[in-house]
Amino acid sequence: MNERLNRLANLPLRENLQGLKPYGAPQIDVPIQLNVNENTHPLPAEVHRAIVEEVSAAAVGLNRYPDREFTELRERLAAYLGHGLEADNVWAANGSNEVLQQILQAFGGPGRTVMGFPPTYSMYPLLASGTDTTYVAGVRTECYGLSAADAAVQVRETAPNIVMLCSPNNPTGTALGLDVVEAVYEAGEASHAIVIVDEAYAEFAHTGTASALSLLPGRERLIVSRTMSKAFALAGARLGYLAAAPEVTDAIRLVRLPYHLSAITQATANAALKHVDALLANVEAIKVQRDRIVNELTRMGLEPASSDSNFVFFGGLANPKAIWEGLLEAGVIIRDVGIPGHLRVTAGTEAETTAFLVRLEELLHQGP
Ligand code: PMP
Repeated sequence: MNERLNRLANLPLRENLQGLKPYGAPQIDVPIQLNVNENTHPLPAEVHRAIVEEVSAAAVGLNRYPDREFTELRERLAAYLGHGLEADNVWAANGSNEVLQQILQAFGGPGRTVMGFPPTYSMYPLLASGTDTTYVAGVRTECYGLSAADAAVQVRETAPNIVMLCSPNNPTGTALGLDVVEAVYEAGEASHAIVIVDEAYAEFAHTGTASALSLLPGRERLIVSRTMSKAFALAGARLGYLAAAPEVTDAIRLVRLPYHLSAITQATANAALKHVDALLANVEAIKVQRDRIVNELTRMGLEPASSDSNFVFFGGLANPKAIWEGLLEAGVIIRDVGIPGHLRVTAGTEAETTAFLVRLEELLHQGP
């Protein structure tokens, strides 16, 4: 590998990519995978059947390019989101990672800045370097909070071209109040900043948590990003989407590759969206396990953050590396997000969650 790295150094790689590491959450084949915030429940049988049928029908026409405007899919996504949104307000791509990349391609780039508030989703700086946009790290409070006033001051001072807000935030799990989004949007007025609210985990938020979708009317610089990877249990299908003013989708058309959403992807997502209730059936069960993890970790003397997502970020660990390894030995993989004393675990099925909790408690009793 080192030799490969040396050879890479001989290539004329762009300066801002030199020395970078690719996104690399370990993909290890163990029985209980609670490390990348997937929905660990298999697809409901009726959704699986519907997808197979619709993909089979789409396969007949694979000699032709797909609908470049994926109109049916945009209509279905708009109907799912509600809030008076229509197909013209919606755009989709191969995962919300690609949606975010397209936003940076359109509104970022050389000489422009994107501001995030770490600890947050680890792809933001990578998407920034991939599009040659300068990443500026804002600051949270010691407990990883972000108040409206604090965020607004930082945005005003930095005057970025793009602000990334992640709500519920990965890896901490906590949702932002809409007052933060409103304040950041207002503070971004001077630099005409695009404000992205990444709501990849929105469906798991506690009842009463408002989505930034409700703020879209009258805010043409605001973009809400969503995904079918988490609540919809479709991470393998790669379908992310956004809601925004129609002119935002016009901007993204300038950078998207023609026919970027394959006919197979469109058929899969369309079929799934005809069964939204069945697809979302496991969200409540996952929330129960998420709350159970928070309660159990507290009982064990650890410090879990409150979570509006399908994962729990927890501190109070003397030796997180040993815990991570001990869990892996027992066939349970969780995530070390590189924050001292902390780990992150995805809420799985009841049985998976039990396996995690039982093994964790044994390891804690064994001591560091
Ligand atoms: N945003 C956040 C906050 C995430 O955690 C993830 C996935 N881990 C994504 C976006 C990207 O998800 P996808 O590309 O599967 O839609």
